[in-house]
This record gives sequence, structure tokens and C-alpha cells, in this order.
Amino acid sequence: MNMSRHFGQRAVVIGAGIGGLSAAGALSSAFKEVIILEREALPASVMSRAGVPQDRHPHLLLASGLQALDSIFPGYARDLADAGAVPVNAFKDIQYERPDVGALPRRDCSTSLLCASRPLIEHTLRRKVVAIANVTVQSQSRVTEIVPAPTWSLVKFETDAGVGAGIEADLVVDASGRGAPTLGLLDVLGWERPQETAVGVDISYTTAVLRPGRTSFNWQILVTLPDPAISATAGLIVPLEGGRWFVTISHHGATDRPKTWEEFLAVARQLKTPAIYNAIYKLLPPGGLRHFVLDESRWRHFERLKRLPRGILPVADALCRFNPVYGQGMTVAAREAKLLRDILDRVAGEADPIEALQAAFMSEVGALLQAPWNMGVNADFAYPTTRGERPERYEESRQFEAALFRAVVADPVVQRAFSDVLQLMEPFELLNEPDIRRRIEVHSLAQNA
Ligand SMILES: Cc1cc2nc3c(=O)[nH]c(=O)nc-3n(C[C@H](O)[C@H](O)[C@H](O)COP(=O)(O)OP(=O)(O)OC[C@H]3O[C@@H](n4cnc5c(N)ncnc54)[C@H](O)[C@@H]3O)c2cc1C
Repeated sequence: MNMSRHFGQRAVVIGAGIGGLSAAGALSSAFKEVIILEREALPASVMSRAGVPQDRHPHLLLASGLQALDSIFPGYARDLADAGAVPVNAFKDIQYERPDVGALPRRDCSTSLLCASRPLIEHTLRRKVVAIANVTVQSQSRVTEIVPAPTWSLVKFETDAGVGAGIEADLVVDASGRGAPTLGLLDVLGWERPQETAVGVDISYTTAVLRPGRTSFNWQILVTLPDPAISATAGLIVPLEGGRWFVTISHHGATDRPKTWEEFLAVARQLKTPAIYNAIYKLLPPGGLRHFVLDESRWRHFERLKRLPRGILPVADALCRFNPVYGQGMTVAAREAKLLRDILDRVAGEADPIEALQAAFMSEVGALLQAPWNMGVNADFAYPTTRGERPERYEESRQFEAALFRAVVADPVVQRAFSDVLQLMEPFELLNEPDIRRRIEVHSLAQNA
């Protein structure tokens, strides 16, 4: 549908990460042109970028994220698979080891994932975006300021050569990861900044890329979780294109990170089970080890503000940054873009569709963020070092989780429901529907008997 006359001449998107690219695709049918301003030079091939240092670590795209991207960019999943992404069936191909119930059954829950490096996920997406005739990705253009005006904004940016310029935009999507342009605008206007919910996790990643060669296992993904009362160290192996594996040790709370492969193997050996150690001890990482530390997950509650400057939309990490160990950030970013696209269709006939789009997005995005946020934060508070305010009814939710995993092991129907919720395909409430709730409670009672 061509809605450009309704919505305006131009949308500007700040940042060409997963959030910015997917938002640009979602908006392309509603504006005459969409310009993405990206501060970095963007590589022509599949390569890591300095501006997204996390891209050297595993990036799991959940099933609903893949679905959202495929619906905005038809053929995205096929292109990703053609580029070498590895198909993984949940849970048939996933060895998911928990401290309470052991490894989850390897049942086919009818959900398919595609595992690839973040550079490949982003590169494939960027190709889809630049193929849209009215979308331009302008690299080496760092946004310095958004200047408000009554019906449009001036987005000021600086090129790598230090040249300053500005573009007028009817809509500005801030997908800069940190949200500095929007926060700066609020400060200039003297308007209130959003409240923040922050959870201190001090999560550290140490990652190696391995070539397993002919070594083969009956899983594609291997996760070993710790018992949080005793240890804060988890391990993960996940495939990526080119017949390689990411192997990552993550740790909740400040710790010394393994600096050599020998230290890495020593930590792997101390995980709750020897599965990861056994899979990697004969291998060597050709590229060495990479580290990443993230101090806190943080939800900036823009959606609670009484007012936002007209036509400004913070999205993805700028709005809510999740603890990466739960693999939710890209998927939520893609789902936000899909929400934007769905709202465009609904508000196209409004007298002021920009205002209607902004109001509808800000009123609906909270519900989209709440379930993944709660799932992550509830799991984080099992670690004694986690900082911040515990969620309400935390003990109750821990007990529910304990019963849930016993039920997942025993009951294929519950495992399927859990898989759908974990992949953000279904709302968390699915686990509270009477039939599923009853099946979970049976296992809670069995344990207490
Ligand atoms: C270690 C780690 C592991 C992770 N693992 C996963 C995972 O398994 N699964 C998952 O779904 N998510 C994962 N994430 C989260 C994921 O990386 C992000 O949530 C996701 O990329 C969405 O981010 P974004 O687009 O908002 O920001 P980013 O990806 O950070 O992109 C922001 C872009 O904006 C550009 N930019 C910034 N400022 C400006 C400016 N002023 N002007 C112009 N351009 C600017 C940057 O250069 C960058 O290109 C992980 C994160 C980390 C840290």
C-alpha cells in the first residue's frame, strides 16, 4: 500500500543495527523516503564492526524474531539460510542442561531457528533494506543533535570528514542503541527524562570461534546452566555459518575472565556437567578469545512519559536493553518494527497520522517488552550478586518456574508451550491457561507429596 501522502515526506532512522534496519523496512511503505544515518563505515562483506562490539559473540535469533523479519522483508529467512545459517529444531537439536531437572527432553516442538553470526544476520538484513527503492543507508554520518520544530525535526549529523549537515524529517526513529539523540533532545527542551528500571548483572562473556571439523555430536546447540546458589558460570555452544561454533563462557557478577585457552578450558571443566569441556578440549580457537562485559540491563520507560517531542520514536536497545544471555534483543527489536508496521496500517486514515503512530507505538510497546523483561529479570535474581529491585511476587514465580521445568520434562504439551513462550512466539499467559496450568500444577503437587 502506498501511504506516503498520509505520513509524510521523510523518516530518518538513527543507527543501522538490527533495530534501525528493521524499523526502516517497516516504515518504507508509509514515507516517500527513509534515510538511515549510521555513524560507521559499513562493510560490503560479512564482517564485524567496531560500533557493535557485541557482534563477536553469539547472537541467537529467536523464532519469533526470524518470523517478524521475514514478514517485514519477505524472503529474509531463505536468504539467511542460503548464506549458510544453520537450521536448528527446538528442542530436538538442543541439549539444554539445567541444574534442577538435568537435560530437557529432545522433543520436536515444531520450532525452527536459524543460527548465524551477528555480522551475517545484519549483513543479510542490510541487503534486504538497500534493495528497497526508497530507503537509503547513509554511512559515516554521526547524528549529533535533533532540533525540534512544530511539525518536523531537523536531524543534524557530522560526516567522518567533519562536515556538518542536517535533514528534515517528519518522523525520527532513534535506534542508536544508547538513545543519546533522544535524551539530548529532552534535555535541550528541559523536558523530563524517562524513569529507568535497571538490573545490575555484570554479565561477562568470553567467546572463542572453533572449527569442530569432523567432530560431530547429536546436538546443534549445547547450553549448560549453573546452580545459581553455588556457581554463576554458564556455558554455551552454538553453530554459525562456515561449519564453525561459538563457544562462550558467561558469568553473572564481577569475575576474572579466562585470558588464555588453557584458562578457558579450566573454567569449562568446572561447569555443572562436562559436556562442553568434552566437546572442545581437543580443539584450538584460531582467533583467540573475545571478551564483553555488560553492567546492567535497562528499561528506559519512554512509554510512561506524559509527553515526547512530536515525531520522535526511541526503539530497540535505546528503549530497552536486555541481559544478552537470554538472546532477546534482536528479536524484540524486530517485533517492535513489526508493531510499527501494523500500527501504520491502522492509523493511516487519522488526521495527524504521525502523532497517532507515535501515541499508538508508545502505548503498545510496553506490553511487548514486559514478558521478555520479566523472564530475564526473574532468572537474574536467582544470582545473589544481582543488583536492583526484585520483581513483585518473586518467590512465587521461582516456585512456578521449578514446577514448570518438572512439567516440561514429564509432559510434551507443557514443553511445547514453554518452547513457544521462550521463543516469544506466544505470550507468557499461555503458561497460565487452565489446561497448561493444571498440567504444571500436577508436577508441583507431585514434588510436594
Ligand atoms: C554480548 C552480547 C550478546 C548478545 N546476544 C544476543 C543474542 O544472542 N540474541 C539477541 O537477540 N540479542 C543479543 N544481544 C543484543 C543485541 O545485540 C541488540 O539488542 C540488538 O542488536 C538491537 O540493538 P540496536 O539495533 O538497538 O543497537 P545496536 O545493534 O547497538 O546498533 C546501534 C547502531 O547505531 C549506530 N549509532 C550509534 N549512535 C549513533 C549516532 N549518534 N549516529 C548514527 N549512528 C549511531 C551504531 O554504530 C550501531 O550501528 C547481545 C548483546 C550483547 C552485548
